Amino acid sequence: MEKDFMNNREQEQMAGEMPMVAYRLMQRKVTEVLMKNLGADKTNEYLRRAGFMAGMEFAKNTLDLNADLNTFTVNMQKALGKMKIGILRMEVFDSDTGDIILSIGEDSSCEKPSAADENMCVYDAGFVAGVLEAYTGKMYDVREVNCCAGAEKRSCSFKGTVSG
Ligand SMILES: [Zn+2]
Repeated sequence: MEKDFMNNREQEQMAGEMPMVAYRLMQRKVTEVLMKNLGADKTNEYLRRAGFMAGMEFAKNTLDLNADLNTFTVNMQKALGKMKIGILRMEVFDSDTGDIILSIGEDSSCEKPSAADENMCVYDAGFVAGVLEAYTGKMYDVREVNCCAGAEKRSCSFKGTVSG
């Protein structure tokens, strides 16, 4: 039988949630202010750094860093889905080099595609780098290789290369 109402615990959890639209709006406005004052290069650098810190904290607080790669990936998929960030797909993982390609689909930043939204992906690239470093202990350079902003695609792809 389907339930019509949230139980108390679910209501409590909802109270602590920030709607994705509010989150993205804040992200856009912070980006706009940074862009106006610092220019594109500095803005991207700071967004990447902020994303990195967020990814690190997210991984340390939410994920089991000792899990094997498959379990880790599944846990991350669940966590990102639960937070409505998007659907994570591991596309390629080279176990020799540690290089990785993954995509985040149905991202809320894909809903209103515009060039400005590409900045959202710089933050996300930093986020992915933070998660990967927390898990592997290696430094990753993560770049977006395919963006859904302004395109027909429904996902953004990121390529991570071990950089140290
Ligand atoms: Zn993108």
